[in-house]
Order: sequence, then C-alpha cells, then structure tokens
Amino acid sequence: MKTILLNNGVEMPVLGYGVYLVSPEECERCVLEAIGTGYRLIDTAQAYYNEEGVGAAVSKCGVPRSELFLTTKVWISNAGEEKAARSIDESLRKLGTDYIDLLLVHQPFGDYYGTYRAMEKAYRNGKVRAIGLSNFYDARFVDLAENMDVKPAVLQLETHVFSQQYRMRGLIKDYDTRLMAWGPLAQGTDGIFTDERLKTVGARYDKTNAQVALKFLTSEGIVAIPKTTHKERMASNFAIDDFELSAEDMETIRRMDTGKLKTDFNDPVLAKYLLDYDKQFNPINRQK
Ligand code: NAP
Repeated sequence: MKTILLNNGVEMPVLGYGVYLVSPEECERCVLEAIGTGYRLIDTAQAYYNEEGVGAAVSKCGVPRSELFLTTKVWISNAGEEKAARSIDESLRKLGTDYIDLLLVHQPFGDYYGTYRAMEKAYRNGKVRAIGLSNFYDARFVDLAENMDVKPAVLQLETHVFSQQYRMRGLIKDYDTRLMAWGPLAQGTDGIFTDERLKTVGARYDKTNAQVALKFLTSEGIVAIPKTTHKERMASNFAIDDFELSAEDMETIRRMDTGKLKTDFNDPVLAKYLLDYDKQFNPINRQK
C-alpha cells in the first residue's frame, strides 16, 4: 500500500475505506471485510453513528492497531472546546482505541475554533496523531490555518474526476496540507461508472472506471476513501497498485474537471440543514 507523508511526519495510506451511510448494524462486517481485503485506512465520523462498528472490527480483525490508520471527525453538535474535548474521549471509547490517527473538524459551522483548540490539546496529549479539517473552503480555511498553532495536516473535500479541486490544492500548499478526497467515486453520480472517457482509458490497462478514477486521484497524491458495502467492489477498488496511468491518460482525465461541486459549503440552506442534522439523524434524538 502506497503512503504519503503528512506535514508532521506521520505516514498515511493513500487509499482507504469510507463508512458514510454504512449502517451501525453493517459497519462491523464491512470494516472487517475491508481490512481483510487489505485496506488499512478507515474513515468514519461521529455523525455516521457507526464508530462502535469500526471499533468492533478493529478489535477483531487480527491486524495490529499500529498497522491501521483510523480517521474520525468532530460533529457540529460537539463544537466548542469543552464539548469537543469530551466528544474526542467518546470517539476513543467507541473506537476502542487510545489514539486516533487523524481527527478532522467535520464541518465549518458552530464554534469550530474551540473545536480545533480541543483537537490541538488532544494532539499534544498523544490522543491524536494528526489533525485537520473537512469542508473548509477559501477564507475559512486560510483564516483557521493562519491563526492556529498546529497547521492542518489534511483537508478533506469533495474531490473526484469531475471536481478536481485545483484552486484549493493551490491554496493548501502554503501549509503543506494534504488533500483527502471524499466522494472519490462522485458518490456514484454523473454516470461515472459508464463514462466513455474513463472506459477508453481503462481499456488500455484492463481496469474499470472506478479503478481508473481512484488511480487518478492517488497518482495526484490525493488520499481516496471509496465506500462500498459489497466485498467484490471493496476488492476491485483496492486493486489499483498494479498499474500506472500514462502522462497522456492523466491529462485526459484532468480535462474531465468541471470545476463544479455537488455540495456548496457557502449555501445558507445547507448550513441550516447541517446545524439541524444531529436532531434529525442521531438515533438517540430519534428515540426521544
Ligand atoms: P463514494 O465513495 O464516491 O461512492 C460511494 C457509492 O459508489 C456508493 O453508492 C457505492 O455503492 C458505489 N460504489 C463504490 N464502489 C463501486 C464500484 N466499484 N462499482 C459500482 N459502484 C460502486 O461516496 P461516499 O461514500 O460519499 O464517499 C466516500 C467516503 O468519504 C465516505 O464513506 C466517508 O467516509 C467520506 N465522506 C466524507 C464527507 C465529509 O463531509 N467529510 C462527505 C461524504 C463522504 P455500494 O455501497 O452499493 O457498493
């Protein structure tokens, strides 16, 4: 498995497995299968309500903890220094581990400066090996990166062949921050699995559209974390180490960038929806 080096010297796998929308019931089985397939990076979040499933798989998988790389994210309802600190301990408990490899601020809403301060403290105390951000764009990213002591090691953004994030990639270079792609398969939209341009490229290497799309990202030094609940797809998404895309094919895929994102983090409607998300989706709130 290829790795990249973060700005604090921590080594991170360039390909991982994401568990957004993997139900708490299914999560243990999926993560066990993913680790069995060879994945070592697992990306979860407090707001996925499946950290316990990840933890159960980690404890049963037989792979030493030191060989795994666990990412989780602090949700908006835990924003602010004290609440975030408590939530980090809660995530550690649910994941059944005494350290998280990478901890991200999930969304740029609420008191995220307080959240980041709590994350810096957890980093200094050895509860977390690296910290970063998710869904922070432009001035929001720069302001936080400029004002905080620990520069974000990673920025996780929607990134795929149709939205290649060139502007943000330029901007985060100043902080030596690495890009991590969420939705690296465009969440299965825009005809990614049948796209003729990807098919033409893939035919040269006997690879599927998904494999070509993931190979493109990792070849650009972008960490990709595809999600699937199907074991065969986990295996095929993982099988991208045995070929290299030619410079010409990389260029063909670069031209697929539309510069458009599916999710706009400057949209006030999205801000209100996300600020309310925990009330609607947290199983604890739903039982009330
Ligand atoms: P994604 O990985 O781009 O796409 C997942 C979709 O593609 C699922 O519908 C999956 O279906 C399908 N799929 C996967 N591999 C396939 C294959 N080889 N052939 C055909 N279909 C395939 O989208 P995502 O789950 O949204 O993003 C990946 C991870 O990024 C998440 O799991 C999460 O960890 C993270 N994420 C973070 C944020 C954030 O705000 N930071 C937001 C979204 C996601 P099946 O499961 O049915 O196979």
